[in-house]
Amino acid sequence: MSMSTGSIFIVVAPSGAGKTSLVAALLKAASDVELSVSFTTRAPRAGEVDGQHYHFVSRDAFEAMIAAGDFLEYAEVYGNYYGTSVRWIRERTAAGHDILLEIDWQGARQVREIFPDAVGIFILPPSLQVLESRLRGRGTDSTEVVERRLAEARAEIALVGEYDYIVVNDEFEQARTDLLAVVRAVQLRAPRQCERLARVLAQMQPAG
Ligand code: 5GP
Repeated sequence: MSMSTGSIFIVVAPSGAGKTSLVAALLKAASDVELSVSFTTRAPRAGEVDGQHYHFVSRDAFEAMIAAGDFLEYAEVYGNYYGTSVRWIRERTAAGHDILLEIDWQGARQVREIFPDAVGIFILPPSLQVLESRLRGRGTDSTEVVERRLAEARAEIALVGEYDYIVVNDEFEQARTDLLAVVRAVQLRAPRQCERLARVLAQMQPAG
């Protein structure tokens, strides 16, 4: 039996757009989509588990992995390295599994150069005002950090035309449904369905 290659979904959003909660909700609803666990040199935050949220590694270890060609893509974000394991991606997609990468815009560009069929999804906040109040509402960052994140958000939003889909995260439940709709539409594309349903379709052929 032939098996089709899995799809790659890339979800990108400016800081404060609500990407992490949306992706978590998506993965719950689309249980056949697997999240790629990135490598990072950032220190774990409270509650983060090594191997689950990230593979936490030292700068030396990360640089050795770069040299060894272990990354499909990597980027420096806010002073730390982040990267996607090339081996995991190739193994899972070759086995027919759909995977999701929650990475930044630099990584998204690199992945789409290698896999032009990867589906780029951008999570957009409803307005800059809402984004700003969400960033301030976290209460964890100084005014300076919030200002910097807002400036970065504007620069990322300017690149929105590079993506296949834009999901506006105004009302969470709507955004969750929209994100799920994008994933399901890709999964239901005819070439893929023809492979997946080969046996049942053969049975449905006209007689004679
Ligand atoms: P955080 O430190 O808040 O978990 O992530 C910071 C930023 O790094 C987010 O935009 C996140 O999507 C991005 N990021 C996480 N993993 C990767 C990765 O493997 N590659 C790239 N390019 N960016 C990543």
